[in-house]
Amino acid sequence: MSDSKQRKIAFIGSESYPFVKTGGLGDVMYALPRALTRKGASVRVILPYYNCIPEKYKRHMRFLGSFMMDLCQDGHTYFVGIMETELDGVTYNFVENREFFDWGNPYTGLWEDIPKYCYFSKAALAVLNYLEWIPDVIHCHDWQAALVPVYLRTRFEPTPVGQAKSVLTIHNLRFQGVCSIDHLKYWSGLPDYLFDYPVFKVNDNEANMFKGGLAYADRITTVSATYAEEIQTGFYGEGLDSHLRYHSPKLRGIVNGIDVDIWNSATDALLPSPYDIGSVIERKKENKLALQASLGLDEDENRFVIGLVSRLTDQKGLDLVNAIFQRIIDEKTQFALLGTGDPRYEGAFRYYESVNKGRVCSYIQYNEGLAHQIYAGCDALLVPSLFEPCGLTQLIAMRYGTVPIVRETGGLKDTVKPYDAEANDGNGFTFDNYEASLLLNAINSAKALYFDNRGRWDEMVRRDMEKDVSWEKSAEEYQALYDDLAEQE
Ligand code: ADP
Repeated sequence: MSDSKQRKIAFIGSESYPFVKTGGLGDVMYALPRALTRKGASVRVILPYYNCIPEKYKRHMRFLGSFMMDLCQDGHTYFVGIMETELDGVTYNFVENREFFDWGNPYTGLWEDIPKYCYFSKAALAVLNYLEWIPDVIHCHDWQAALVPVYLRTRFEPTPVGQAKSVLTIHNLRFQGVCSIDHLKYWSGLPDYLFDYPVFKVNDNEANMFKGGLAYADRITTVSATYAEEIQTGFYGEGLDSHLRYHSPKLRGIVNGIDVDIWNSATDALLPSPYDIGSVIERKKENKLALQASLGLDEDENRFVIGLVSRLTDQKGLDLVNAIFQRIIDEKTQFALLGTGDPRYEGAFRYYESVNKGRVCSYIQYNEGLAHQIYAGCDALLVPSLFEPCGLTQLIAMRYGTVPIVRETGGLKDTVKPYDAEANDGNGFTFDNYEASLLLNAINSAKALYFDNRGRWDEMVRRDMEKDVSWEKSAEEYQALYDDLAEQE
């Protein structure tokens, strides 16, 4: 039996920083393989070769070969090209097919995305066979790769890759890949019996890709212990709570970390004034002034600046923010939003900026550089989510000495210890029920500490910077999980 440190792990998912990222999944697909590689594992990440991958990365890719693969129920075959590149010891293989991956950023709509990810899931396994690189464990991510465990135990069972075990991680249960049974049956080309039993079936007409993957995966993980519990309840289960309760013996939560090399305020080239724990209090003021100048906010180091970096969707608790917005802003408080998404929220934040010139900036864009500057230049970061599987922005904020204000749900609950005035302990301000008045109380408590007891505030800033938000411990938990699986017959 091989040493645990030499395990071969294949990651299969729809996005990974720096090639393509729309949210936290992209961060995890980048950072976890790197952390595992540093611990001695051999990791290969398989991604689609999207047209939207920047040229600077495409230029360094090698073409490894190609083959034709049957996909659909009618045996229709498709081209599979394989590209390869390396980054920090991790090998990346990209599955190339222009019919599927020439559109979108990278997603389009479910109708097109379902064929795209049926193709991708099957092609990823075929690529491993083609390369004769047979992993101990195949680690799949979210609904886009949920068919992998199903293909593995059906079409690919008698092939070399069939000996691998599978883990399916839920990064966000809200998105499940639901479509008509006929659509999935046709595109996946999976055996009919899978559609007769309640593997994919949601009702007489609809099939659910995530549901099938969860049934077939050897293990299920999600990205925090609290979310692992929550998704087994009706409120958070997105219709799959009973399915997850049934499969709970193979379900567990492992909290995400962040890549502490990318998110390092001392070496971050995107910051006007990099800082460490010794210089944070002074340098944060310089970053704040630079941020205010670049966002058109009144330049004053004594204002309390609240940041929000987020997809603008219902998940993120923005209706709570809307309900109290005008009561957050005052002559001493500013707000910097960076996000894109639902036009309803984009419009609301544009409006708040227009009526609060100099106090509010709504930057409706996806902008990596500005995100870094907001994490560094703000005093507090808001994450009032309705649900949050793990959440990365509160981790990045703490790493940058920015105090998180969060709702106690999912990974937010597991990573932000509430401020305890008596013990002078904790990492941020929290509230439990999904109520705007409770969010306002949490923000007001943060303001009170900032303006009335700056010494205590600064101690919390330093405590946050000292908190371990790296992948170290979680990568070890994944390693133990892979070992456990690989040793099973
Ligand atoms: P989710 O995956 O639900 O979007 P997470 O908190 O897990 O939320 O991850 C969000 C990631 O995306 C973080 O790295 C955050 O900095 C980044 N991000 C979100 N919106 C933007 C934006 N508009 N510009 C730059 N980065 C963003």
